[in-house]
Amino acid sequence: MKAIRRFTVRAVLPAQLSALDELAANLRWSWHEPTQRLFRDIAPHLWDRQHRDSQGRDPIALLGEVVPERLDELAADSEFIARAEALRDDLRRYLSEPRWYQSLEGPTPDTIAYFSPEFGIAAALPQYSGGLGILAGDHLKSASDLGVPIVGVGLFYRAGYFRQSISRDGWQQESYPVLDPDGLPMRVLRNPDGSAAQVTLALPEGRALVARIWKLDVGRVPLLLLDTDIPDNDESLRGVTDRLYGGGGEHRLLQELLLGIGGSRAVKLFTGLTGRAPAEVFHTNEGHAGFQGLDRINDLVSQGLAFPEALRAVRAGTVFTTHTPVPAGIDRFEAGLVARYFATDLLPGVDVADVLALGAEDYDGGVAETFNMAVMGLRLAQRANGVSKLHGEVSRGMFGALWPGFDADDVPIGSVTNGVHAPTWTDQRVRALAAETFGDDDSTRVDWSDEQRLGDAAIWGLRRDLREQLVDDARARVGAAWDEENPGIGRPVWHRSLLDPDVLTIGFARRVPTYKRLTLMLHDPERLRALLTHPERPVQLVIAGKSHPADDEGKRLIQRLVDFSREADVRERIVFLPNYDIAMAQKLYPGTDIWLNNPLRPLEACGTSGMKAALNGSLNLSILDGWWNEYYDDRNGWAIPSADSAGDAAERDALEAAAMYDLIEHQIAPRFYERDGAGVPQKWVSDIRHTLATLSPELSADRMLRQYVEGLYLPAARAERTIADTRYRPARELAAWTARVAEAWPQVHVAHVESGGVDATPQVGEELQVRAFVELGELTADDVAVELVHGRAREGDQLGDVERVPLEFVAHELGAPATYTGTVRFTRAGSFGYTVRVVPRHALLASPAELGLVAIA
Ligand SMILES: *Cc1c(COP(=O)(O)O)cnc(C)c1O
Repeated sequence: MKAIRRFTVRAVLPAQLSALDELAANLRWSWHEPTQRLFRDIAPHLWDRQHRDSQGRDPIALLGEVVPERLDELAADSEFIARAEALRDDLRRYLSEPRWYQSLEGPTPDTIAYFSPEFGIAAALPQYSGGLGILAGDHLKSASDLGVPIVGVGLFYRAGYFRQSISRDGWQQESYPVLDPDGLPMRVLRNPDGSAAQVTLALPEGRALVARIWKLDVGRVPLLLLDTDIPDNDESLRGVTDRLYGGGGEHRLLQELLLGIGGSRAVKLFTGLTGRAPAEVFHTNEGHAGFQGLDRINDLVSQGLAFPEALRAVRAGTVFTTHTPVPAGIDRFEAGLVARYFATDLLPGVDVADVLALGAEDYDGGVAETFNMAVMGLRLAQRANGVSKLHGEVSRGMFGALWPGFDADDVPIGSVTNGVHAPTWTDQRVRALAAETFGDDDSTRVDWSDEQRLGDAAIWGLRRDLREQLVDDARARVGAAWDEENPGIGRPVWHRSLLDPDVLTIGFARRVPTYKRLTLMLHDPERLRALLTHPERPVQLVIAGKSHPADDEGKRLIQRLVDFSREADVRERIVFLPNYDIAMAQKLYPGTDIWLNNPLRPLEACGTSGMKAALNGSLNLSILDGWWNEYYDDRNGWAIPSADSAGDAAERDALEAAAMYDLIEHQIAPRFYERDGAGVPQKWVSDIRHTLATLSPELSADRMLRQYVEGLYLPAARAERTIADTRYRPARELAAWTARVAEAWPQVHVAHVESGGVDATPQVGEELQVRAFVELGELTADDVAVELVHGRAREGDQLGDVERVPLEFVAHELGAPATYTGTVRFTRAGSFGYTVRVVPRHALLASPAELGLVAIA
């Protein structure tokens, strides 16, 4: 019989064990190994079963399941109690002591709101589908470790993302186990009178969407998740937060309205209720939460600001991170649908037309009647970034049409390369080795290159242990999947020899959108077969990945792989593991010798799985895309050359697949199997050392967080404080100035440029003097900056390697153009070209391109 409802009754712990409650309630356990060990010791078999369950590890569920006799036993075990209390004290210290952020000079914001549609924190909370969510989870965890005062904001999806199984004919099956909040470390946010704190959004036809707010503690960082599954909503509205990326169109819009507008209101409620400082900086992880800016504009309008003034103020404190160079990855809605939702009391201070203008694709190449969430994100944020250097560059090109007249490198989108939370993603064995050898378990900090203290054999021994751990985990998963698909039928004998802990192991796991090319390795099945079955230097492959439920193409790719992996001669050497999730990933990355990534360059914005592999001493084999494009150095792995100039996609696949096979066959396998007298592959181990020593600190999310704080959050907070001063007077002035400059701009132009100071054939070291005459129309010299732009003249007189020199204002006489002068010294030989440009200038602008206005000679 099936239950119609289920919930978890929380265990009442004996008073002596109260420390466990505190430890279970804070998700810090998910990256704190000593706390995990404590919970494991309560009921090892339950803890280990949870690891492979789709439910995931969760101390609260564990305490609910363990038999009362065991709890009584522990309550009488003074050693256990002392351990639990020491860990609780350690947690309390972690939550209150000053950390990196507290050592920063000057005024720093006390609250930073961080919005994301998904958060990947622990397997027990399947509120993520892939890299975007895992990154958001890692962002919060590192913020906690560094003491950065972030408040996370998202949605609580009752069924999360789906659980994957594979049918007998290799087809992906999805199921949606419903989560039980009572069994998870989350509590409803409450008003002082005990009632649930709620946010309400007005909807068309006089309806309203109500959500309660769950609060989770991710170390020091509170995470607020909005949930519409409450009796205040009718049946259809209860389902708004049913699934992550479950629906399209209107369902999706409702989720994003809730995430943005509801999320903004939830933050205000939370800071109000807890006496915390209101948020000053607002960071949106991708465009989904973009409506949060409109809610803040609405607040300012109710304080008496006009829309353009409020827009300037809101932009100052907003940071937008774009995550995809794939146009299909961007959320877009029919403008009419968006209009219908804003023609209500949803945001009474904001006109529908102003909303639509923010998301309009009213630029070259845009589509009419479309509302683009990323475009709105960029227009609502004064600071924006991509997630690797290459992705920043690609984004400047992709969104360049929003700043017409500016070169791609002027487009105000920077980059912060992603990182991964090292304590979550570094295997305990690696940390233990660091602790034993160097007395510090922070593997991103120790000197892995110290051969005196750490011998090759120890590193190689570690790698074997990690490989063996993966082999065991893979066998257990394959066995469990078999039992589920074939109830009552014994497991095949060959399962026992599935994978080999001494064979070169290549891992590949990720979501399955086309650009990631899950099946590139199958391009030449016979060549793959030969690699897998090589008599002396065999290779084995561990693969995992989920296809979006609506993507049959992706499911066909999985099916092809699964079919191949079932062929009798290779099935012990290639395996597809169902239900890729955090728990699997934590064993998979460390256990692989080679982490493979073969996206179509440059469509992988960053990619983080390879980073997690590297933190454990795996070497990467990857297309030079995303993070690998900036970190590959010839000793930390291999680069698959991308055949960018191939005639078509098929040719490109063929060339890149061939290059991949060649690298594995001729470089990787020989190096792995070339052993010294002690059975250690010396060159390989030295590459591992190099990888751990050089990449660990760089790939850590702590590095990323510091860059966000120093490069984006602090400047945004300063800008926000400046513009909000004296009841937003600077915002009003900036808005008025912006309107005046925009109106006068058509008259601004470079009338004439003169140059001198060099002979007919200029030489290196000489100086070029430039005098520019600029027509300012209604503007004054204070309103503009005039710049000499110079560089190498390329084909069609295009300037490359551009530099800009400000020209100095000389004079402006009534009725005549203003005069500007400056000089530039030739520092290199070769072709040289220059031009002069005029851009608006104002102390509150963060970039000369900000207003999208420019006049070029
Ligand atoms: C890290 C991670 C991802 C993202 O990996 P990419 O390399 O960015 O594709 C996806 N899923 C899980 C479970 C992860 O841990």
